[in-house]
Amino acid sequence: MRYWVASLSMCALASLSVTPASASECLHGEDALGVSRVLHVDTSNGPLFGTLQYGKTLDLGPKEVVLTFDDGPHPHTTQRVLAALKKECVKATFFPVGTMAEQYSEVLQMIAEDGHTIGAHTWSHRNVERLSKARATKQIERGFRAIDAAADVQIAPFFRFPGLNDSKAMMAYAARRGYAIFSTDVSSDDWRGIGARTIIRRTMARLNRQKRGIILFHDTKYATAAALPAFLKALKSSGYKIVHIVPDQTYEALKSVEPGEPEAATVAGLTAAELAGGKKADASLQR
Ligand SMILES: [Zn+2]
Repeated sequence: MRYWVASLSMCALASLSVTPASASECLHGEDALGVSRVLHVDTSNGPLFGTLQYGKTLDLGPKEVVLTFDDGPHPHTTQRVLAALKKECVKATFFPVGTMAEQYSEVLQMIAEDGHTIGAHTWSHRNVERLSKARATKQIERGFRAIDAAADVQIAPFFRFPGLNDSKAMMAYAARRGYAIFSTDVSSDDWRGIGARTIIRRTMARLNRQKRGIILFHDTKYATAAALPAFLKALKSSGYKIVHIVPDQTYEALKSVEPGEPEAATVAGLTAAELAGGKKADASLQR
């Protein structure tokens, strides 16, 4: 049975709870960072979030942060990330890759069971900026579809471009499709191969300058998994609050995701020439 997990885990109430599931979620309730509020995101018309690229972001107050994790799930690291989040009663947003979700569906389901928001990060982490419209559309739709199938819960119409490499064509497509696009406000640099201490130091320094925002991590990185417990403690000791984002709308699969088939083509706004000649469209989109 599919269900949407969006309920705020109220750590303050954990001690009053009589259900084992709620109690285990917030064992460290009083000392935990917790979730301060849930922010509902209207995804219609493909809103853009993240000052790194778009000059605007989520409606966050001072010291409010949203944690996001890309590229997973991975059995060696994602479970450590989940354990750290659970220990602090924190909810995050994950942007999995379709192939990973399919291969490690049991890990994806753990993310869902913990009540985190799940979006999508394409099928195989291709740079969609360099693909034809047809191929880029397929990367996005196939990714969403695989993650939706593997998660066994209702996923969010939240999307992040691999490498943050967006394209005007795919941003327009996302707007028509009702996918919110997430860039970031604060990069952790965890993809650069730096260690856990450096991740914490850089991220906190950037956050202290920005005072709020979406933070981008990768749940596939060992250093990130290692850094997370101390990073969450640093957030709490510095007075930051966690906001859990959930969508107003739900992801709905297209009947077809094959480029050239009517529904995907219509949504993507593809011309007959583009459908017939992927190579030509590819060249026109490359910078
Ligand atoms: Zn990525």
